[in-house]
Amino acid sequence: MDALETFRQQAHAWLEANCPPEMRLPMQDEEDICWGGRKFRYQSEAQRLWLQRMAEQGWTVPEWPREYGGAGLSAAEARVLRAEMQRLHCRVPLQSFGISMLGPALLKYGTEAQKREHLPRIARGEIRWCQGYSEPNAGSDLAALQTRAEDRGDHFVVNGQKIWTSYADKADWIFCLVRTDFAAQKHTGISFLLFDMASPGVSTRPIVLISGKSPFCETFFDDVKVPRHQLVGELNGGWAIAKYLLTHEREMISAIGSRGFRQPLGRHAAKVIGVDERHRLDDPMLRAQIARFEVDEAAFAAAGERARDLARQGEGMAAFSSVLKYYGAELNKRRYELLMSAGGTDALEWEGPRSQEGALARAWLRTKANSIEGGTSEVQLNIVAKRLLGLPGA
Ligand SMILES: Cc1cc2nc3c(=O)[nH]c(=O)nc-3n(C[C@H](O)[C@H](O)[C@H](O)COP(=O)(O)OP(=O)(O)OC[C@H]3O[C@@H](n4cnc5c(N)ncnc54)[C@H](O)[C@@H]3O)c2cc1C
Repeated sequence: MDALETFRQQAHAWLEANCPPEMRLPMQDEEDICWGGRKFRYQSEAQRLWLQRMAEQGWTVPEWPREYGGAGLSAAEARVLRAEMQRLHCRVPLQSFGISMLGPALLKYGTEAQKREHLPRIARGEIRWCQGYSEPNAGSDLAALQTRAEDRGDHFVVNGQKIWTSYADKADWIFCLVRTDFAAQKHTGISFLLFDMASPGVSTRPIVLISGKSPFCETFFDDVKVPRHQLVGELNGGWAIAKYLLTHEREMISAIGSRGFRQPLGRHAAKVIGVDERHRLDDPMLRAQIARFEVDEAAFAAAGERARDLARQGEGMAAFSSVLKYYGAELNKRRYELLMSAGGTDALEWEGPRSQEGALARAWLRTKANSIEGGTSEVQLNIVAKRLLGLPGA
């Protein structure tokens, strides 16, 4: 038996023995996601236990080195682990911007001390991070950011405002882009800082959306003192880190749909609409649309795996994350359009127990943001045109 097959059997047995039954049920909504952090209230003892057990195995971040809280798995082993988790319907034990965004950036650009301080706490779900990139006048043109950090030798003093900071009011720390040189060209005067959201001078104000719920905040910095050792990379060298982190954010967003809805679309639709005499979904038009979607979804998953393998071998192209992000966002929007079609008028219900308080309609509307967050689709297409197709810029 080859080593990978042995690993598969061991992983399967471990998951079977350690994943609580509750953590094998499909997530109903966002509330079921485990984000970790100081302020997080666990939904159940099972959720807490599942995170703890997976973190002890190093399987919240299976490919990170052991000394930083991972399990040091190879790409192939990590793929096997993901497949076994899916097979047993195990929930992802921890979702976090620390894992999907900051961690990779620290592994590449952090000092040894920064890695040892932050990565294990991310892996264990002890600290929840938020992303301080966008500002009122710096979204697509991110390098126009104006939040300033004054260099005072052993510390910086940060003043300014961020916007659309997801979960800023729930996060413990922030990774934040600041301007440290106002005379330099806009891309070269930016630095990358980490700081505690409990620092004096940090405040957040939730932005309420029409749905009544919102992850967003405005985040304000008023003379926030940040120790110098919390600067990542070189002073004024933050743009390269910001871009590297964005490639990971875009990959994370591109896979957003495949993580959420576990039941195959066709089976879900058949439950609602019924089946014909040949046990096929009793709606030929929808059946064809779902079939086309599932073929595209499988091709996209294969393209994503290939891109990740190439990246691990050092042969990846950073700009390919824009292809994944663009297409993954479109695919997720299609997924939810189909779910809405399968649900009929009931799916449009906004309130009441029958629709679980409009859970599907809300999730469908949320997908509209997939082509904005992490950089808009127009911006991704610009990157593809310029960096991958070699077309002249506008
Ligand atoms: C769900 C969600 C979560 C988010 N979370 C965070 C977060 O945690 N932290 C954070 O920092 N930010 C976050 N954002 C903000 C997000 O990164 C920005 O909304 C995004 O980068 C676009 O910036 P903007 O909103 O300022 O739009 P703008 O940049 O003002 O763009 C407006 C429109 O103009 C188009 N446009 C702009 N420039 C070009 C161009 N050169 N070519 C073609 N079209 C162009 C855009 O495509 C868009 O349609 C989040 C956004 C969403 C929707």
